[in-house]
Amino acid sequence: MNHDKLAELLFPRITKTPQDYETIYPPRSLPDGAKVTRLGPSPTGFIHLGNLYGAFVDERLARQSGGVFYLRIEDTDDKRYVEGAVETILTSLDFFGIDFDEGATIDGAIGDYGPYYQSQRGEIYQCYVKELVKKGQAYPCFLTEEEISDIRAKQEANKENPGIYGHYAACRDLTLEEIEANIAAGKSYVIRLKSDGDQDPEKARVISVEDGIRGTLSMPENYQDVVILKATGIPTYHFAHVVDDHLMRTTHVIRGEEWISSLPIHVELFEKLGFEMPVFCHTAQLMKLDNGNKRKLSKRKDPELSLDYYRQEGYVPEAIREYLLTILNSNYEEWRQENPDAAATDFLFQTEKMSNSGALFDLDKLNDVSKDVLVKLPAPQLCQFMKDWAGEFQPEILPLFEGHEDYVEKILDLGRSGKKPRKDLVYGKQIFEFINYFFDEHFEIQDAYPENAADDAKEILTKYLETYDHGDDQSQWFDKIRTIAEELNYAARPKDYKKNPDQYKGHVGDVSTVIRIAIMGRSQSPDIWEIQQILGEDRVKSRIQAQIV
Ligand code: GLU
Repeated sequence: MNHDKLAELLFPRITKTPQDYETIYPPRSLPDGAKVTRLGPSPTGFIHLGNLYGAFVDERLARQSGGVFYLRIEDTDDKRYVEGAVETILTSLDFFGIDFDEGATIDGAIGDYGPYYQSQRGEIYQCYVKELVKKGQAYPCFLTEEEISDIRAKQEANKENPGIYGHYAACRDLTLEEIEANIAAGKSYVIRLKSDGDQDPEKARVISVEDGIRGTLSMPENYQDVVILKATGIPTYHFAHVVDDHLMRTTHVIRGEEWISSLPIHVELFEKLGFEMPVFCHTAQLMKLDNGNKRKLSKRKDPELSLDYYRQEGYVPEAIREYLLTILNSNYEEWRQENPDAAATDFLFQTEKMSNSGALFDLDKLNDVSKDVLVKLPAPQLCQFMKDWAGEFQPEILPLFEGHEDYVEKILDLGRSGKKPRKDLVYGKQIFEFINYFFDEHFEIQDAYPENAADDAKEILTKYLETYDHGDDQSQWFDKIRTIAEELNYAARPKDYKKNPDQYKGHVGDVSTVIRIAIMGRSQSPDIWEIQQILGEDRVKSRIQAQIV
């Protein structure tokens, strides 16, 4: 077989050589040890937590080492393309503080290693396929879908591995004349790799790859004649990955563990193309506990897999970043305890410290982390965040914040000073529900008075209103509540009530709960006196009054 002739027959229009591309995309001049990483999402319009998790690793590795983090759009599967998807990817990641040094942008691209859309790289892939054909390492395959499914059925019946290999690779040894005749007859074809691997596990070479997260991965070599170029002239993931990561000079490929099974294919392709392999870092799947069982997060069942979920709920991006770091690196929490006020970027992120057995994602834990993050966020910043979030997701409540920043900041700061600050605030939606009684339009009585005090409620509130002085300090204010309690035969101290429960109707706590419900509509809240100071005298009085009549 004259392979050169075959290559010209298949790719007459490809005139550039691999050497040309080596010149166009030279090795990057970066400091020693600088890492080049990339995110390669498909533009399906759905960007999920797993993408963000991977993007964090990419971003940290590149930024920590003075390297480059770029965005490549893997749009070779046009069936999955969704309009505006690139914008969604960029804006979602930007929200979480992830930005790129290079690559695809909303209206084009920046950088010298493009095109960064795989759909625009057809000629480049074809050049390398042509090269493999020239070396007799790839060939056109004319098997029809029907023939392939017959092969699969036969393999199933014989309990053999599925795929095109060995004697099933019927087009491996076609002559140039046969190929010419097929093409002349208009038969459609793909290009397959002519694998050198042995399908016999006894004879197969064992390949070893040093994974940045998992250490040595050993597995049998590839023996499948996988498709590298589809009939449309578009490459498969395997081929595009190898060519792109070489030419874009990626040093570290961070991708999901679902790719480990195709690693032998990639190793064979890197070898055949004569490219140096990047360091592979296969990340663990994000898992969740479901009724005590660990399972993968699912797009269908778990809204928290979607990044939109966090934006709609109003999570502060720092909280998500902080939480992801705790699941990304096993020593992050310890570091955080020792460095409570340091920027997260001061932490030295290491792939070796990543879990390789499924990272557990737990919303409750995220909420705890979020509380810790929010308690440190100054009220003006939190107020601005609430405005941005409301503006986008609950515009009807924006007027409550806009122009009332002083009021809102006081509300958000409630109980947050002092040694043991309250950690009530978790995320936008929850925060608004937590504070909405401060706004008359949203104030409503949600809880019932304590049973033992319900009959006295009006009397308690009448006395409260009569003696109310907005200028009272906290202890003067509470003395008055004690007095009301005593007058109505409630113990002025809970411990007195505990000692002699039969002597009282209840204790001072029941009396203050009545007041709390009248003013806040709920039986749980931060300190009543402090809330009253924020609400202002008129609002307090009118809320009490409303419960008396
Ligand atoms: N386009 C691939 C995916 O979305 C990227 C995998 C990789 O990072 O290599 O799964």
